[in-house]
Amino acid sequence: MEFAAQFDNPLICLEDLEGIRDRTGWSGVYSWYFDQLRRFITYKAEREGIRVESVDPAYTSQTCSQCGERGDRDGDHFACSSCGYERHADLNAAANIAVREGEPCTD
Ligand SMILES: [Zn+2]
Repeated sequence: MEFAAQFDNPLICLEDLEGIRDRTGWSGVYSWYFDQLRRFITYKAEREGIRVESVDPAYTSQTCSQCGERGDRDGDHFACSSCGYERHADLNAAANIAVREGEPCTD
């Protein structure tokens, strides 16, 4: 949780992975990986008193997981005009585990 310690009032936003799974039909290693990641982060955060909020992936699927800027989503494809990052849109969204300074996750 070192990355959260830099904030006075951190709030961790985790994607609602059930939604991603429903839409993409992910199974096997992907859903196992994200389940583990999500559990690990939630566990660590709760131990340190950091709030964790689930967000609808629709809110973050347009946010670049590399630079945090808003990118362009075209179907399953995500492209960031700020840093040039490109990825499958749902993989990009799933990587958006954001730490914020006490702000709502759904801006
Ligand atoms: Zn970017």
